[in-house]
Amino acid sequence: MFSEEKLSALIASIGLNNQAFRERERFMDWQPEDAIYLAQASENVQQQHIDFIKQLHEHLAQFPDIALQFQQAQSSESLATKQEQYYQQLWQSPHDENYIKDRVRVGLTHQAIGLKPQWYLGSYRLYLDTMLKAVCSDAEQTQLLSSLLKAVFLDMSLAIDSYAAAYNQRLEENQARFARAMRGANDGIWEWEIDSDRLHVSNRWLEMLDLTAEELGVHNSNNWMSRIHHDDLPLVRKALGKHLSGHSQFLDCEHRIRKKNGDYIWVSLRGFASTNEQGGQRISGSQADISERKEHEQRMSYAAFHDPLTGLANRRQLDQLLHDSMQRSQQAGTRETALLFIDLDNFKQVNDNYGHKAGDFLLVEIARRLQNCLRPGDHLGRFGGDEFVVLLDDLACLEDAEHVAQRMLDSLSSALRIDDHLLSVSASIGITVLPHGTPPNELLQAADLALYQAKMAGKAQFAHYTKDMHLATQELQSKQAALTKGLANKSFELLYQPIYSVNQEPKHDSSAIYAVEALLRWHHDGHCYTPDSFLDLLEDSDEILAVGAWVLKSACSTVRQWQQSFIPQLHCSVNLSYKQLRSPHLVSLMKTALESSGLLAKFLIIEITEQHLKPDCAQSLANLRELSQLGIQIALDNFGMGQASLGYLKRFPLNILKVDKSLISNTLQDPLLKDFGQAMISLGHSLNLKVIAEGIENTDQLSLIQARQCEFAQGYLFSNPLTAQQFEALVSTPAK
Ligand code: C2E
Ligand code: MG
Repeated sequence: MFSEEKLSALIASIGLNNQAFRERERFMDWQPEDAIYLAQASENVQQQHIDFIKQLHEHLAQFPDIALQFQQAQSSESLATKQEQYYQQLWQSPHDENYIKDRVRVGLTHQAIGLKPQWYLGSYRLYLDTMLKAVCSDAEQTQLLSSLLKAVFLDMSLAIDSYAAAYNQRLEENQARFARAMRGANDGIWEWEIDSDRLHVSNRWLEMLDLTAEELGVHNSNNWMSRIHHDDLPLVRKALGKHLSGHSQFLDCEHRIRKKNGDYIWVSLRGFASTNEQGGQRISGSQADISERKEHEQRMSYAAFHDPLTGLANRRQLDQLLHDSMQRSQQAGTRETALLFIDLDNFKQVNDNYGHKAGDFLLVEIARRLQNCLRPGDHLGRFGGDEFVVLLDDLACLEDAEHVAQRMLDSLSSALRIDDHLLSVSASIGITVLPHGTPPNELLQAADLALYQAKMAGKAQFAHYTKDMHLATQELQSKQAALTKGLANKSFELLYQPIYSVNQEPKHDSSAIYAVEALLRWHHDGHCYTPDSFLDLLEDSDEILAVGAWVLKSACSTVRQWQQSFIPQLHCSVNLSYKQLRSPHLVSLMKTALESSGLLAKFLIIEITEQHLKPDCAQSLANLRELSQLGIQIALDNFGMGQASLGYLKRFPLNILKVDKSLISNTLQDPLLKDFGQAMISLGHSLNLKVIAEGIENTDQLSLIQARQCEFAQGYLFSNPLTAQQFEALVSTPAK
């Protein structure tokens, strides 16, 4: 009935090893003679045993409940035989391993049927009493000993029950403590008897799922497992299998489990397998609600993989997506993958002129528009700043990528309203479709190159990656690197283009020179570059701030020298980049340049391009006002090209309007333009501004502006931009 393992486990828990047993014998003062003595007499007591067993059964009959329990252990007939054997054995006293196992087995059987020790002891008392009467002839002594036996056994039965009760009490206290601790830990407890498929769960376990014991249904594994989220079930089964097969020390996994109302909570499932009383497998453990932690983890992982502003995939997720896509593309039969790199063309200005809040708003709106151009399964991510990346998986042909790119460009064509402003935004897109298995970083690099190409070709368009782009980029990179060393290498130079006074009689000699405009040149690799080819690069890297400071200082000191040597009233006109204009250090920079050169503020003109003059940049406006207060003149450059309204012109402390050369140079062919240019000159005058006409290349153009009383002119008709030496030669040549 009981397995060997179970018997051994119990023997071990009693501590009944050989040594301990011998110790017991010693305490009983058990001598070898005792064994001999008993064995010799055993033959003579057989009849007494038979009589005793009868007597016992008669005695038991007075206690029907107990008699029934005895019978449960064995039918009364086989019980009698067994008992007879047992009493025989008692006289043989083998005291070996089997004997011990036998005793333990009897104890277990009695415990299993609920027979309490007092009845067991009582039977022994009766046995001894019978034996006493059989072997002892003195009736008086027998009576005395018989009474003593009753007293001793009654005493023993009480003592043993007290032991047991005290032990049970401790056990119960432990259990209660355990239950309290589990309650405190807020964990549910479960135990699954695998062979009989019986599930025991604690109240807390049920509470977690808002269930009553009845609502769980039959307490078996099916009603447990069917509550586990479908996606998590394979994982739970795998973890169970691994532990039950001895491949993991504990069952330990996390899964979702359904509550009564259908919602799922996240739980941590832990358990440990053991053998039950019947030798079968069972697993017991806890279930802790970890929903809050999981939510937090999910929020963290969302944040780790998403752009907080637009909610799009961030760079990290894009890397992962690209990586996955590359893996997939290596499988046979997969279709093309294209990568689109998108960069807004004029985002910097929006940010600079309307502030970061407006910039953020714009990015969110653009992300929404771009997303609307995609199919499910395509991925859009924000790469940083105003850069977006699209991953198009599973493309039938290259044209599909072009269609998506075109849809995106079109989606940006309608203007965006931010507060009271209507903003138009455009983007450039680089497309790359590279062979299967191209590493993600190469794909990105290729798309970036194509993007650069789209920008170079005039922006607001898409371009495809081609192999020769690599070369172009390398050149660009080396150009950028060379530019940052430009100041140190003294490879920048200033040319000076004279600005002439033209409102008196035609006189092109140096006495009519009102100012010189400092124009930057860069000498690199034997070439002399004009600003169009490097100004953007300088601005991108912020190097323009250092170069701009150098321009200002050099121009001021050169013009100051020329004032002293040639033209005392010569003005110095310097172009400012929008980054300089927004710089909080601009005013102090100007003051230093003036002080160190000795040039008076009234001889310095700074030229601001119309496109950069936006009313929302408080720093620009404050800078201009302060410079104006110092006496520096402010010229609005390239006027007529941008969107400056009359309101702007009034708001800024302007002194000069420079009418853009595009309104001058084509005027002869285009009468409308001619009128427009003329009107600009008049507008300048009506605002009390000096007007400089740019790009005067011939006398007809000169006559036209003179007819409108334009005071100043600049252009090839008078002079190209000159080196300092050329200018000195020009002004030192006596007038004809
Ligand atoms: P800008 O301020 O409009 O300068 C006038 C440009 O027109 C110069 O080009 C000049 O060479 C050119 N130009 C002069 N006369 C004529 C003419 O009769 N016909 C035509 N077609 N062009 C003429 P450049 O030197 O290539 O400079 C281009 C632009 O670069 C400048 O335009 C200015 O905005 C910018 N720039 C030049 N130097 C600097 C500088 O030191 N700092 C900054 N931030 N910008 C600069
Ligand atoms: Mg200029």
